[in-house]
Amino acid sequence: MLVFRKKEALRQHLQEHRLQNTTIGFVPTMGALHQGHLSLIRKSLELTGYTVCSIFVNPAQFNNPEDLKKYPRMPEQDIALLEAAGCHAVFLPEADEIYPTPPLVQFSFGPLEKVMEGYYRPGHFSGVALIVSKLLHIVQPHMAFFGQKDLQQCRILEQLVKDLGFNTEIQIEPTVREADGLALSSRNLRLSREGRQTALHLYVALQQAAEAVQAGIVPDVAQKNALAYLQNIPNLEPEYFYITEGGTLQELRNVQKGDQIAICTAAYVEGVRLIDNLLISYQGN
Ligand code: AMP
Repeated sequence: MLVFRKKEALRQHLQEHRLQNTTIGFVPTMGALHQGHLSLIRKSLELTGYTVCSIFVNPAQFNNPEDLKKYPRMPEQDIALLEAAGCHAVFLPEADEIYPTPPLVQFSFGPLEKVMEGYYRPGHFSGVALIVSKLLHIVQPHMAFFGQKDLQQCRILEQLVKDLGFNTEIQIEPTVREADGLALSSRNLRLSREGRQTALHLYVALQQAAEAVQAGIVPDVAQKNALAYLQNIPNLEPEYFYITEGGTLQELRNVQKGDQIAICTAAYVEGVRLIDNLLISYQGN
């Protein structure tokens, strides 16, 4: 596997593959890789001819400096995991390679960023859109792979690619979970064993809400019940619990059989902010 630290070197290398009509797949990450990230790498290896992963903890998307400081960094281990997975190249830039001057551009996504992560992490999606735009310009992949774990990010990036006309297909892959259901996350590394058990309640609440909605409970009631459930778990501080329309992530109205519903939550456990979601197809009338 090739390791690139400079964007120009990566760009030139990929150009050679492009000239040979090789399709390029791209998996952007912030490192501390786990099986969730590796599932994206595997999908890219399956669907494209040349897979590039990037590892960059993007300061522009952290609205909380403490969160940025504590974000786990383990580049050697990440490189070994990518190599073993069969990834072809990794891009590991320093911050000034990506931001030679402080960026001034801001992105705004209207209603899509007024809810959930966008509401609770002001500026977060502007930072995400900025880094993904920069990386798409460098890599110019045919396909880019993202995890449903960050569902609102997926919707934001679909909009970004559509609005700016990037020639990249966005592929969204299912959330990889531990055997007990806990969504894999780099942030789980910061949890104690007890914290991990506490975090599992997020998945329990999501599942209970999904069952409630399918059983005909009004979404507004189901989401209030789920929030109350989480509020009663010791050492867990829920931030939000929403049941929304799956595509727009806006309030659910007139839900019909077969409609996609997103159930999304965020909570703090031991000071670590965790998110999770389920996408379900409504089975009612
Ligand atoms: P991150 O390193 O957290 O920025 O994540 C990089 C990519 O991996 C994003 O597209 C995430 O949605 C995805 N990802 C993170 N956790 C998981 C997971 N448990 N399952 C699938 N994809 C994931």
